[in-house]
Parts: sequence; C-alpha cells; structure tokens
Amino acid sequence: MSEDEGASSAPLDFIRQRVADDVAAGKHGGRVQTRFPPEPNGYLHIGHAKSICLNFGIAAEFGGRCNLRFDDTNPLAEDTEYVESIKEDVRWLGFQWDGPEYYASDYFTALYEMAERLILAGKAYVCSLNVDQVRQYRGSWNSPGQDSPDRGRSIEENLDLFRRMKAGEFPDGMYTLRAKIDMASPNMNLRDPALYRIRHAHHHRTGDQWCIYPNYDFAHGQSDSLEGITHSICTLEFEDHRPLYEWFLEALEIHQPQQIEFARLNLTNTVMSKRRLLELVKTGRVSGWDDPRMPTICGLRRRGYSPQAIRQFCTSIGVTKFNSTTPMARLEEALRHDLNESAPRAMAVLEPLKVVIENLPAEVSETRSAANHPAKPEMGTREIVFGREIYIERADFMEEAPKSFFRLKPGGEVRLRFAYVIKCHEVVKDPQTGEIIELRCTYDPETSGGKTPDGRKVKGTIHWVSAATAVDAEVRLYENLLLVESLAEVAEGEDWKDQLNPGSLRVLQGCKVEPSLAGAAVGQNYQFERNGYFCLDARDSGAERLVFNRSVSLREASDKG
Ligand code: ATP
Ligand code: MG
Repeated sequence: MSEDEGASSAPLDFIRQRVADDVAAGKHGGRVQTRFPPEPNGYLHIGHAKSICLNFGIAAEFGGRCNLRFDDTNPLAEDTEYVESIKEDVRWLGFQWDGPEYYASDYFTALYEMAERLILAGKAYVCSLNVDQVRQYRGSWNSPGQDSPDRGRSIEENLDLFRRMKAGEFPDGMYTLRAKIDMASPNMNLRDPALYRIRHAHHHRTGDQWCIYPNYDFAHGQSDSLEGITHSICTLEFEDHRPLYEWFLEALEIHQPQQIEFARLNLTNTVMSKRRLLELVKTGRVSGWDDPRMPTICGLRRRGYSPQAIRQFCTSIGVTKFNSTTPMARLEEALRHDLNESAPRAMAVLEPLKVVIENLPAEVSETRSAANHPAKPEMGTREIVFGREIYIERADFMEEAPKSFFRLKPGGEVRLRFAYVIKCHEVVKDPQTGEIIELRCTYDPETSGGKTPDGRKVKGTIHWVSAATAVDAEVRLYENLLLVESLAEVAEGEDWKDQLNPGSLRVLQGCKVEPSLAGAAVGQNYQFERNGYFCLDARDSGAERLVFNRSVSLREASDKG
C-alpha cells in the first residue's frame, strides 16, 4: 500500500475513535483484533471492499491483527469455489489476514457445547413449533409474543432432545433449539430466537458430520469470542441484533468483543446483493461473476480497476452511521485519478475511417517518437509510423460541419497527434450506399510535430494510426448495469431485471490500434488518447485475438461538452 493511503491527518471516523479510546483505556490489554467474516455464498463485491478496508485498515493502524473468517453455517448456499475467490480477492486488494483462515464450521463442536451449556443453565429449550407457528407466536412490533408450549420443558428433556437432534433422529424442521430470553421484548430479536435448526445437508467442509446447524446470530458472536476479537465491525442491519450478541456472551460468560455498526456502501445504478448478482450469473445476463459490468471485485479487476483505486475510493467515502447511496461516478473518478498518473498513452481508432495522404508515396514512411505520458518523461517514448494510409475516427470527420467543428471537414485542416497537419480534398463514397469509405488528403511537410511555421491557425488535433502497422482489436465499451439509480424505484411485482441497461455492453469489432498494444500485458492499463482508459481483457484475449475493455471514459458522461 502506498504511504499516502494509510497515514492521514484527517480526524478519526467514529469507529477509529472508539478503537483509539479503547486502546487508550487499556481495554483488552490495549489489543486490537478485527475480522472480516464473509459468507462463502458468492463472490465479493465493492461493498465488501469497504468492510475489508475498514477491518484490515484499523488492524494495521492500531498495530493489531485482522482475521479472515468464513461464516459457513448455511450448508445449502456455500461452496469452496467462493472460498477460493474470496481469498484471492482479499489478497489482491492488498491485505493479508492473520494466521490461517478461519471457518465458523471449525467451531461447530465448540458451539454445540456452548448450546448444551445454555440448556443446562436453563437458558435454552427445544421447541417443536413449526416455522409458521413460530411466526404467529412471535407477535408483532406492537403486540408481545406468546410463550411456546415447550418453553417450560425440563432441562433433562431439553438435553435429551437436543442430543437426539444432533444424532439425526429427527427430520428437518421437527425441532429447533431456542434461547429462553423474553417473548415480550420490544426487540424482536430477543423473543426466544432459534440457535439451532435441523438440516440434513452436506456441508462443503464438514461433509455429513452434522445434521444440525447453528444460526448466524448464535455462530457469529461466539466465533468472534473464540478468536479473541476485540472489535466486531458490522453493517447497520445488525444494530438490533447487538443486544442478542451481548446476551449470548454474557450467558456463556466468555470473552466479550464490542460490536460496532456502520452504514453499508450502496452505489447508484448497480446491484449489490449477492442473491441478485447470482441471479444475473445464473440467467446468463452477464458472462459470469467477473463480467466487467459487475460490481464484484473480480469484475472490477477485469474491467481494469487497480487495488489502489478501490482502496482510495473506500477511504474517500468515509465511515458513517447513516445509510446513503454513493454515485457510481465517484468510483469511476477514483479510477481516473489513479490511471491519469500511471497509464501510458497510446493511440487506438475505435471506429476507423481510412485516410489516404496523396502527397506521400506508398514506399515512404516516417518514424516518429511519441511520449508515453505527457507529464512524465521518465515513462519513456515509443515509435509510431506515419505513412500514406492512416485511420482516423469516423466521428472526427464531418461532411456538413458546423462552424464549431474543429476536426476534419472537406477543404479543412486538422493536426495529427505527433505528426503533421493534413487537409481534406475529397470524400470517397460507396456508390451504392453513399457511406463514406475513404478521405483523400495531403499533408503539409512544413508542419512536423504539428507546428505551423506561417502561424496559420489549426484548432483541432486528432489521434490516428498508420494502416500499414496497425493491429486489429475488439473493444468493449461499458455503461451502467441498471437504468434506474436504485431498485427502490422498481414497483412491487415487477421483475427488477427489466431495469437492466440494454446498452451496458457495446462490442466494437475491427478497431485499429497502434502496434505497441499488441504486446499489452494483462493488468496494465493504457489511456487510448481521447477515448478513455483501456486494459486487455484477461479472459478473452489471446495470441490471435486482442480484446480491450474500456475501464472508464476520460470524463464523466455529464460533463462532456
Ligand atoms: P450481501 O447482502 O451482498 O449478500 P452479506 O452481508 O450477506 O452481503 P457477507 O458475506 O455476510 O455478505 O458479508 C461479509 C461482511 O461484509 C459483513 O461484515 C458485511 O457487513 C460486510 N458487507 C457486506 N455488504 C456490504 C456493503 N454493501 N457495505 C459494507 N459492508 C458490507
Ligand atoms: Mg450475510
């Protein structure tokens, strides 16, 4: 990580302030131990990056440690593919967890023993109500719940039934183990929540060893405690679960981490729940979890985001207690900021129009040197060839051009980047379709490097590539995944997928790029002059095929002018 990311003179956010206060007060012996606890039921997304930067960041800043723990208590949704991708993404973001990675499933035995302890203390009971009955008995926000008929079951009977649940004697759903707390609590989470359910399902790590699985609320806090976590940082939805988190730790008399909640990251014009992302993958609306339109870490990586750009973004949005939605433009701005500094420049023509320089013989060509970065001579130069046939962008020529059009027009002049001023004499059209297929121009040999010795004004400068040396490429342009800013705008009963942007992917074939780009490496980003920042597509490019993704345009769409 670069130095300017970590060290900052900005005031501490409320979580860091709290941690600093605890350290100063000597709480937990001044120790700081955080954790990032993903459920391995999907790939990580940019929201997770916020949590990763926060947990690993705080640990690093306070000389502490951060664990990676897979919250794998739901055998049905979880998979080792997700475990591997999560580890890869955390590392790629620039973080290393403390020790081995942990799994909630490592604690199944310990959690089971804790549950028995709660039974023995008269604080948990086996309940035979089914899901619907549990809901009815729970009451509502304004009415208290009703005790389960099994609430008074004896400790011996509870223990016996719980052991038989574990031994596999009962079918799914027949019993649950519930905490005995308070059916009249104004906090619904305290109305005798379930701790264990019966689920005869294969688990990605423990196989068929267990047929009862702990609920998230029971597993999470106790896992935190077992790992000696000091600050358990989570998103705001868990604020109402904090009393339960604390109740378990107190009832079990074990190490008590402090749960602290913050507002999750929401971004405009995209989806961020793993359930919806999975739906996009499964229905083939995107090419996979790493589709460059996805807000997943692997999607952003394939799109051309660097770890620093993502970390900078996470730092810049800060940490608060208020739910809000961050404009996608801010994420893109973080990337531009990063790439403007680091990306070498290159020329690529996305929608080519051939230009013949009539006063340059076919056998003559001239090699010119082009700076790789306008402000960084240390990034070196490359050679580009100017010859009789070149390509320019179709959009850089206009037959009936308004006065304000400073690019090429019939009889007009334009400057070619790094080369000469050219003048257009003739427009060649397809006699059938009327489409412009070629421009006949001349170049002014006195204007090397674009300077006009007679001082005549040539306002426009355009990029180009030489036809003789250009390489063919496919270029993919991206827009937002969603047409609407937020799915809250989608009416009930409507399919949210109807809001997918049909223009989110545009594929351009037959693009012409300068030959240096044939050697582009995966992970290297380039600024294609005037067209934006691009990177080689890690999945679809090969020896025979160049595919570039546009990572981001040069400017936000709304301030193009
Ligand atoms: P999703 O809602 O996308 O399925 P989740 O919360 O179920 O996400 P987990 O794997 O349980 O996903 O999340 C791991 C950690 O990442 C949790 O601590 C969670 O609070 C945090 N996290 C998830 N989404 C966001 C987000 N949008 N912003 C900040 N933190 C997040
Ligand atoms: Mg979750």
